[in-house]
Amino acid sequence: TKYVYTWGNGKADGNGSMKALLGGKGANLAEMTKIGLPVPPGFTVTTEVCTYFYANKKTYPSSLQAQMEAGVKNMEKIMGCKFGDAKGMPLLVAVRSGARDSMPGMMDTILNLGLNDQTVLSLVAATQNERFAWDCYRRFIQMYGDVVLGVQKSEGEDHEPFEVVIEGYKHEKYHKDIVDSDLTADDQKELVKRFKALVKERTGKGFPNDPWEQLRGAAGAVFSSWMNDRAIVYRRKYNIPAEWGTAVNVQAMVYGNTGETSGSGVAFTRNPANGVNEFYGEFLVNAQGEDVVAGVRTPEPVALMKKAMPKPFAELMKVRQILEKHFKDVQDVEFTVQEGKLFMLQTRNGKRTAAAALKFSMDMVKEGLIDWKTAVLRNPADQLDQLLAPIFDLAEVKKAKELAKGLPAGPGAASGKIYLNADRAAAAAEKGEKVLLVRNETSPEDLRGMIAAEGILTAKGGVSSHAALVARQMGKVCICGAAAIEIDYDKKTVKVAGETFKEGDYLSIDGTSGTVYGGELKTAPSEIITGIVDGDKAAKKTEKFKSFLKLMEWCEQATKMSVRTNADTPEQTRIAVAFGAVGIGLTRTEHMFFEGDRIDAMREMILATTLEARKAALAKLLPYQREDFTGIFKTLKGLPATIRLLDPPLHEFLPHTKEQQLDLSKKIGVPVEKIIQRVHDLHEFNPMLGHRGCRLGIAYPEITEMQARAIFEAAADVAKKKIAVKPEVMIPLVGFGKEFELQAAIVHAVAKEVMAEKKITFEYQVGTMIEVPRGALTADEIAKGAEFFSFGTNDLTQTALGISRDDMGAFLMPYIESEVFSKNPFATLDATGVGQLMQTAVTKGRSTRPNIKLGICGEHGGDPDSVKFCHTLGLNYVSCSPYRVPVARLAAAQAAI
Ligand code: ADP
Ligand code: MG
Ligand code: MG
Repeated sequence: TKYVYTWGNGKADGNGSMKALLGGKGANLAEMTKIGLPVPPGFTVTTEVCTYFYANKKTYPSSLQAQMEAGVKNMEKIMGCKFGDAKGMPLLVAVRSGARDSMPGMMDTILNLGLNDQTVLSLVAATQNERFAWDCYRRFIQMYGDVVLGVQKSEGEDHEPFEVVIEGYKHEKYHKDIVDSDLTADDQKELVKRFKALVKERTGKGFPNDPWEQLRGAAGAVFSSWMNDRAIVYRRKYNIPAEWGTAVNVQAMVYGNTGETSGSGVAFTRNPANGVNEFYGEFLVNAQGEDVVAGVRTPEPVALMKKAMPKPFAELMKVRQILEKHFKDVQDVEFTVQEGKLFMLQTRNGKRTAAAALKFSMDMVKEGLIDWKTAVLRNPADQLDQLLAPIFDLAEVKKAKELAKGLPAGPGAASGKIYLNADRAAAAAEKGEKVLLVRNETSPEDLRGMIAAEGILTAKGGVSSHAALVARQMGKVCICGAAAIEIDYDKKTVKVAGETFKEGDYLSIDGTSGTVYGGELKTAPSEIITGIVDGDKAAKKTEKFKSFLKLMEWCEQATKMSVRTNADTPEQTRIAVAFGAVGIGLTRTEHMFFEGDRIDAMREMILATTLEARKAALAKLLPYQREDFTGIFKTLKGLPATIRLLDPPLHEFLPHTKEQQLDLSKKIGVPVEKIIQRVHDLHEFNPMLGHRGCRLGIAYPEITEMQARAIFEAAADVAKKKIAVKPEVMIPLVGFGKEFELQAAIVHAVAKEVMAEKKITFEYQVGTMIEVPRGALTADEIAKGAEFFSFGTNDLTQTALGISRDDMGAFLMPYIESEVFSKNPFATLDATGVGQLMQTAVTKGRSTRPNIKLGICGEHGGDPDSVKFCHTLGLNYVSCSPYRVPVARLAAAQAAI
């Protein structure tokens, strides 16, 4: 088996499409080499080796060593120097992880590998740059000691042990803080000595001298880091399977730390926060690797490189164009300049906010880089709600006190109680508090807190800092480098603009402008919401709004499935239709019974012991229901409305406290003992599987009769006003063909009566929910009478899994952590299990009634992955809550492209 793929000198074994095997970094290094960009040579050890490593007690395939030796030979030939050479210029390498999807900050990179007490001297001799050579060696021992040998801060230590040694030395020698780049060659030599002593003290062993031993150790550490805690947390958040594994890249070093004509940088080909077409990033002179993002020295905006290093900058601008033309997407690049010469070290599609994604996609269509279908795919459906997220209320902002400014790293508005530590932030969020995580800078250890927070505020760090990176990816509101805030971790306070805020106090941050405000600010809906829902004229003129509309227009062209909404009121219906819903997929009639004193009539109906009494109570409910449906039909103007008959168990409507029972007794003149008795009678051990759904209508046909009458009378009234109506009556919880027949017969009979009484005809349909496994399995029987199916995937998931959604809290986390569930099955459809039931129902339903209308109305209808699954099933529509309609439209369009 080929385990090693080399690249260099314009040639490569791999290419950009091989991310599964080579990881993202390795595949793109090969690709950049092939298109002629200046990339130092190297090779990738494939992800298959990682899989082998974990399957075989952390050992390697036997042919790997020979293949790696050939890889090193290839580098030596191109670079004209030898790995471990103690006489001439030695070949040094970077050992870099690279998973299929980039996992920022998760894996550890080791630079300058191959140095030892001999090769450092040959490096000095070959470069005549003593400070540089010993700087490399010092960095190498530090990185290798940390990542491979595990010399890290232990419990009770506040700082990394290597940092403690450096700080100690600086104070001992210079009596003050100086930056690392000011350390002399002698300083570096001394530090190497002290670092090695530290390694010996902590590990009991000497620092490995043999370059090959170093290389194998580093590769092993990269593979091992795939299973470290941070990597696991990250994978869980982004649903990356553990089986994917990581690749290891071994690459010839280029040096950004040789002096003033060298440096290191990271940049985006366009602005990933707001989408503006400008080169965006940071650069540090005389620096290596992580210096730029580590926050030890403050990097400069990359634009300033133009003055300091005009030639490599011009070359970089050319590379920027070549990359965008080639990858047809915004790139996030890492580069190093060695003595005036530019080298590219990494490229990948840049993470971006939803706002930037929208602008990139629109601009690139205009520039002819991509077509409109690609543009649709470039907007992640699960991020779209960022665009709909609130902004600060303008009136509130005018009143608020502006405390500080920072870099706008993640757009949006967030207000919350401040916490200075990730664990405390996460704990507070768990209790339901809105939380802002405030730190000097963040690191991967803070991930839990960042996930929990509404927004992130840092005092240090730039646009490529860890906080900015993660915020962009998670769509968090974020401000970085707000230098005016002073954080005291011990006292748990934040001082800014003469005020002191304690943990638990409120701050507000505007990640679009970079402004920090004191106190809690009210938020206002985004322009897209006000433009669409309120028809706000100013909002409609914004670029964001116009781009959003264009995107939705393209979705319309691409999509096969339509999107309906779950709505119970005319107002919800109006909003959903404005967002592009083409009908109602679910109206829950029971929600209507909780308004005003309708509940009294409902309770009277339930308490009734005779048919007459029940009919009398139902007669009181009828006008209410008719009025509701009239409003909905009028708003829909001829779009279809699926109305579900009464579904929940009756006891949900009953008064459960003594006070409520006495109150009801007075209101309807039924003795309180009788009420208590009835509540008692209706108690169920397992209401989810109890007397609910069509079981109610079968036990009490008069309920179905009343509801059907309300629907059809409303339809008749609206039709008379020359407004088209399309009622679709839906029978819930059907598992037997007979259940459906019994209920449908009532509905049809009432329809006939009402049409005769009102002297008007209109079209209507009767169909069912498919939400219990038996219904799915016998769908051919049910389809004899049912004109449509709507998958009620909440109940279908509960009944198929035998798991109650309301009782799942206790084991959901362990189930996700141990990967029993890859995702919460109530949020994302369990395609493998529940999906099979749906597939069966679709096939059987169509075998009886080829043109049967199929839809879904569970919560899953607004979840992008589930929507995509529904597309593959060939459903006609998905239905979701009004504000999820754009998300569902985007996901449905993407599924069809
Ligand atoms: P990450 O995945 O954390 O970005 P990388 O493997 O990209 O890790 O390495 C981090 C940094 O190390 C790079 O941005 C670059 O500055 C430096 N680096 C990596 N490879 C080399 C190399 N061959 N020569 C010089 N510097 C390198
Ligand atoms: Mg890194
Ligand atoms: Mg990198």
